[in-house]
Amino acid sequence: MKRYSVFALARNALRFGPGWPALWRSPDPKASYDAVIVGGGGHGLATACYLASEHGITNVAVLEKGWIGGGNTGRNTTIVRSNYLWDDAAALYEKSLQLFEGLSQALNFNVMFSQRGVFNLGHSVHEMRDIARRVNANRLNGIDGRLVGADELARLLPILNVSARGRYPVLGASFQPRGGVARHDAVAWGLARAADARGVDIIQNCEVTGIRRERGRVAGVETTRGYIRARKVGLVAAGHSSVLASMADVRLPIESHPLQALVSEPMKPVLDTVVMSNAVHAYISQSDKGELVVGAGIDSWNGYGQRGSFGTVEGALAAIVEMFPIFSRVRMLRHWAGIVDTTPDACPIIGETPVRGLFVNCGWGTGGFKATPGSGWVLAHTMATGEPHPLNAPFALNRFVTGRLVDEHGAAGVAH
Ligand SMILES: Cc1cc2nc3c(=O)[nH]c(=O)nc-3n(C[C@H](O)[C@H](O)[C@H](O)COP(=O)(O)OP(=O)(O)OC[C@H]3O[C@@H](n4cnc5c(N)ncnc54)[C@H](O)[C@@H]3O)c2cc1C
Repeated sequence: MKRYSVFALARNALRFGPGWPALWRSPDPKASYDAVIVGGGGHGLATACYLASEHGITNVAVLEKGWIGGGNTGRNTTIVRSNYLWDDAAALYEKSLQLFEGLSQALNFNVMFSQRGVFNLGHSVHEMRDIARRVNANRLNGIDGRLVGADELARLLPILNVSARGRYPVLGASFQPRGGVARHDAVAWGLARAADARGVDIIQNCEVTGIRRERGRVAGVETTRGYIRARKVGLVAAGHSSVLASMADVRLPIESHPLQALVSEPMKPVLDTVVMSNAVHAYISQSDKGELVVGAGIDSWNGYGQRGSFGTVEGALAAIVEMFPIFSRVRMLRHWAGIVDTTPDACPIIGETPVRGLFVNCGWGTGGFKATPGSGWVLAHTMATGEPHPLNAPFALNRFVTGRLVDEHGAAGVAH
């Protein structure tokens, strides 16, 4: 059996025999589609997938300038949770968490969703009050969560330094048991395969370079592979959302920032949950491969380069070592950044723009992976019906005109 596996692997590596079948086709773009999604990250793929499966709209193209999942979807630290403060945000993220709970079955593709729980640490009395308020708000909304004191934390997480003398004394935490992590590539690949199976054209290496309008509504997109007509276009491009929207003279209240993450050398299982700290701007989990997955806060400048500053990761690692002295001699192996799209109220923008037929789904900032299926679900509804889904109605672009902001800075915090 072992010999067979080794030979099978070698044969596939050398491309002898039929090899593994491709998970999705690579079609040439057609001249026109009913709907075009710009951006082949998880959100764009989920939108296309649900347009086909929930609304019967299958003449759809996903246009991706690079490769599927090569943006933030393949660069994030995969934390999934729904413990946001305000009703509107909590409902949207909770919908997404519920979709995550059935995603592997729905896609028939293992997205390795592991509900290992998420702790959000509190380091001051003030922070603990905020955490308690959020836990109470979550419970009123039917979202799981509870307060954990320092003593219980010490029992649950013996490697966490809860000493009162630490630079960041830990007073307690919130805990969402249903939170956890999922395999980010698998989410993108599973959604791509399901969308393709329903007839969606996934076109990689196809950059959108312009947006044409006729009489106030969208008419199609210019791409590096020619002009494509579509009366419905969804911009789902994360850190490049404002670049794309400006092609249609739409100005978005988005700032694009680098956000960094790191992984360590693999080691035996030592951390079976996710630990986040807004105050120290660092969070950590352990991947199934054994690597420590560490995230930081955003780099403060704007930019589109997928790299960040050394100072930011140095600060995050100093905080991790302070909280988990056991990791002080672990070597970090890889380090990267993505470009996140932040809004003034730390909430997404989902809906139609002033250009009819042109929709945006952006502003997820540091925390949109957890929203992947939910955001696709509501954008598909909005594009199919022309009306917002009740879950994304509060997240329209015009809230920055009316002032009805949904301020989630406390829950979004360091990230995620
Ligand atoms: C380091 C890091 C850690 C993170 N950790 C978490 C986390 O733990 N939990 C969490 O919930 N969220 C996290 N996030 C945020 C999360 O990754 C994003 O919010 C989410 O993945 C956004 O998905 P998306 O599909 O909208 O964007 P993307 O995956 O970035 O997809 C957008 C796509 O649009 C394409 N594109 C751009 N311009 C064009 C164009 N002109 N033409 C065609 N295609 C174009 C890009 O190439 C890209 O593939 C993290 C982000 C980073 C960078």
